[in-house]
Amino acid sequence: MALTPMMQQYQEIKKEYGEAILFFRLGDFYEMFFEDALTASKELDLTLTGRAGGDDRVPMCGVPCVAADTYIARLVTRGYRVAICEQLDPPSGRGLVRRAVVRLVTPGTVLEEPSLAPSRNNFLAALLPAAGGFGLAFADVSTGELGIGELPAGGAVTLEDELARLRPAEVLLPEGAQGDAAAAVAAELGALVTRVPADTFDYAAARKALFTPGETPPEMPLGLRAGGALRRYLQNTLKTDWCQWRITVRGREGVLLLDRASRRNLEITSSLRTGDKEGSLLEVLDHTVTAMGGRLLRAWLEEPSTVPAVIEDRLDAVAELAAASLYRDLAAALKPVRDLERLVTRAALGQATPRDLVGLRVSLAALPGIRELLMPCVSSLVKKLVGEIDPLPDLAARLAALADDAPAAAHAGGIFRSGYHPEIDRLRAAAREGRSWLTGLEARERERTGIRSLKVAYNRVFGYYLEVTRANLALVPEDYERRQTLAGAERFVTPQLKEYEEMILGAEESLGRLEQELFAALRSEVAAAGGPLTRSGRAVGALDALASLAAAAVRYNYCRPSLNREGRLHIVAGRHPVVERVLPPGQFVPNDTVLDRGSRFMLLTGPNMAGKSTYLRQVALITLMAQAGSFVPAASADLPVVDRIFTRIGARDDLASGRSTFMVEMDECRAIVQGATRDSLLILDEVGRGTSTYDGISIARALAEYIWERIGALTLFSTHYHELTDLDGPVNHTMAVREQGDGVVFLHRVVPGRADRSYGIFVAALAGLPPAIISRAREILAQMERAAPGAPPPPRRPPGEEKVLARLRATDPPNLTPLAALNRLYELKELLEGKSGPD
Ligand code: ADP
Repeated sequence: MALTPMMQQYQEIKKEYGEAILFFRLGDFYEMFFEDALTASKELDLTLTGRAGGDDRVPMCGVPCVAADTYIARLVTRGYRVAICEQLDPPSGRGLVRRAVVRLVTPGTVLEEPSLAPSRNNFLAALLPAAGGFGLAFADVSTGELGIGELPAGGAVTLEDELARLRPAEVLLPEGAQGDAAAAVAAELGALVTRVPADTFDYAAARKALFTPGETPPEMPLGLRAGGALRRYLQNTLKTDWCQWRITVRGREGVLLLDRASRRNLEITSSLRTGDKEGSLLEVLDHTVTAMGGRLLRAWLEEPSTVPAVIEDRLDAVAELAAASLYRDLAAALKPVRDLERLVTRAALGQATPRDLVGLRVSLAALPGIRELLMPCVSSLVKKLVGEIDPLPDLAARLAALADDAPAAAHAGGIFRSGYHPEIDRLRAAAREGRSWLTGLEARERERTGIRSLKVAYNRVFGYYLEVTRANLALVPEDYERRQTLAGAERFVTPQLKEYEEMILGAEESLGRLEQELFAALRSEVAAAGGPLTRSGRAVGALDALASLAAAAVRYNYCRPSLNREGRLHIVAGRHPVVERVLPPGQFVPNDTVLDRGSRFMLLTGPNMAGKSTYLRQVALITLMAQAGSFVPAASADLPVVDRIFTRIGARDDLASGRSTFMVEMDECRAIVQGATRDSLLILDEVGRGTSTYDGISIARALAEYIWERIGALTLFSTHYHELTDLDGPVNHTMAVREQGDGVVFLHRVVPGRADRSYGIFVAALAGLPPAIISRAREILAQMERAAPGAPPPPRRPPGEEKVLARLRATDPPNLTPLAALNRLYELKELLEGKSGPD
């Protein structure tokens, strides 16, 4: 179909950004056309209209520019890309305005506040699949962090593990079929997969983009190439060459490794049930008051350390802040500090608003107080962080120019406070004077002319005018000049009105230009201070995270763990940090744990629901917390520094990938025996549940033997197969229970010894299974325990016999007449033969 010139322009731009929804600037709106209009109207609840685009009307919908951020946020969180196309010339009313895409907003490159969760990073990752493994780069554009690493095939960390940690919003992969498997993993974890030209993964270009000629790049060609592609993509989407990256090279040293399954099972940052932070370890420990502190605390828990000095430094700091409630005063002092890391990025990209910079001013004003508060501290980490805080007094003084109620939009007026700039004050006074003259004009002219209905109004074409209805035209004075005739009225101007109009509009225009200019300069000054600002922001974040750990330690009565190099794990009165918060106060039963040179393997038997899983997880969580630098829920804890924590917990179907519970379980076991070392902590809960009993026992036993004999890792192994307790080596523990009549009470106490029975039938009764099933199960169990393995269960009684027995039990012979007794005998006989009788 034939298109108007503007629609042709639209089509051309759209061709280049086919995968994105094109926000096409038309005056004060961004309009969407064709398919985009259909998609956006649905996703954003916008009214679908049409526009004459040539021969036909084309579907169209739009959003006002001032509200664009929230609409973009909604599209981007749903996994769309949005291309923002602006007008490059001021509209002249004649000819076609030039237009171009100034930014491509994607889930991994978004900077707008509504799209970002304050206390978590928003990562964009780039992956380069190769024969030896993957090159991986990841960046949080909003904070300026960029990491480069490599994942060797068959290494300790799989691609899936790493992506599960980073949770990138978007993953870049080279075009082509290569990396289809990686794309599937990324998509399963909720990332948008974007294919980029393979030649952007070029080594030389990457080296140049990421390092100055003098710098030595790391020996990570694959990682570097991924980093180069990532930089290139950011240039293409942000449309700027901005680079203030803090590049970190990520090796595998110094961090406690957790695979994807363990991360999920231990519910470190999100609970299994809801997938939210609620019910996770992070929720219990997070008392941070700044966005930077929230992000850092999360990162510490996601990646605890294995370097004793790092851990001890954090523990020293937490100890110092916990004493004398220093953490409370610190939290109050930190509270006004805004997200400096993200603010600096927005300033550097010219996106920071006046209100952002007022926030920066408030933040800077808070910094001296924080330093002063912490001056007396002696722990080396606190001292170091205090030293990194720079209140930038000069910049703070410059920011004093901003009005306290500066607007949230950069183009709005009223950015600077009065008294700051004489010209601004003069223009504001002129505009104000003109306006007050105008306000009085209507009354004055009514008085002068006697026209009661005279009105002063404004429109874009004529500016200010006086409107007189037709009936009053005779009263119009000499100096009125006619400008427009309407059906019922005429519009006039006077020379004086024009003069004032010029004064008002001129003053406002100059004012707007001046404020914009001064604001842009101020924003550049902020960007120029990006280094110290970011450093201060990160120091504030670290202090916030430490104060948060101190708050948790005091509030929940944690103790400082001590670390040893002898592989000793002694916990006295340990608790599960999350479960103890859910139970009523005092209800959680603390338990000890002793794993040692001689007894590195604990076999824990006991009934279901007795607290085995809770106990196992609690040991893993205490270890993880300690290595993150946190105090731990125990009376005392002497802990080794472990290199990895593995968990195999509970039954979980991985239906999405088409694997059965049992297959998932065996796969997790494989990962454990492949990856675990003597320094690892292994948590195995109920291995071998998803198959037949003999299968299950055999697998569980063989696995336990292998771990015990060949790996020698610190292991907690729970099972309800009490047959395993005769294994030679492991220390046997069991969950204490008190039998009470037909039932059993769980004491939630771990005691030395072995369970000689599973109490599964008790639990089944507890759950309310019908008595007929329970008594039959008891009978089968008794017989199986007597018989040789594999013997058939005892024959089932026919239903008739059950009924006879029930009837007999209900019969009371002394109270039967001879006749009744005879009748009962007939009745029983008939019941036995199944002829009749009550059910
Ligand atoms: P198991 O793994 O033996 O089946 P769980 O560890 O799942 O048992 O525990 C079952 C329930 O018992 C938990 O939901 C919790 O409410 C309670 N529980 C577990 N451990 C304790 C404890 N130490 N103190 C108090 N209650 C506990």
